[in-house]
Amino acid sequence: MPETYKVHCTCAAVELTITGAPIVHAHCHCMDCRELLNLPYCPVAAWSASQVVVSRGAKSLVEYQHPKLGMRRAFCPRCGEVLYNTNAMGWRVVSQLLLAKCNRGVLPAELAPDKHFFYEQRVVDVHDHLPKYLRGSSGPLFEPD
Ligand SMILES: [Zn+2]
Ligand SMILES: [Zn+2]
Repeated sequence: MPETYKVHCTCAAVELTITGAPIVHAHCHCMDCRELLNLPYCPVAAWSASQVVVSRGAKSLVEYQHPKLGMRRAFCPRCGEVLYNTNAMGWRVVSQLLLAKCNRGVLPAELAPDKHFFYEQRVVDVHDHLPKYLRGSSGPLFEPD
């Protein structure tokens, strides 16, 4: 049985049903995530679009294409909560905090961040033991001085 995750916005008008393993579960430092979520970097999990189904409130979900960024924000117009962002690859990027909130406050262990990516674009340094990929989630790694 593949894992299934249910997440909903604060007012519960919109619910997602997410099935299967994410493509990536990591801290994302890319400018797009930062701008859309207003955070210095974002613990996220990303799935392909077909794995993330809007199981309630699909009609009310609003998608907003940022004019400059390669990202589209999908949010609930009632409570304003972002359910996911769609990136340039078509992945649906979900905040790990939202995943935790909807799982009795605990992030499912298999979704815990295992790396940093787009670390080259960072606005804050992070000192931890996780690998720090400079661009995507593979390729060259950050080497501390
Ligand atoms: Zn809502
Ligand atoms: Zn990002």
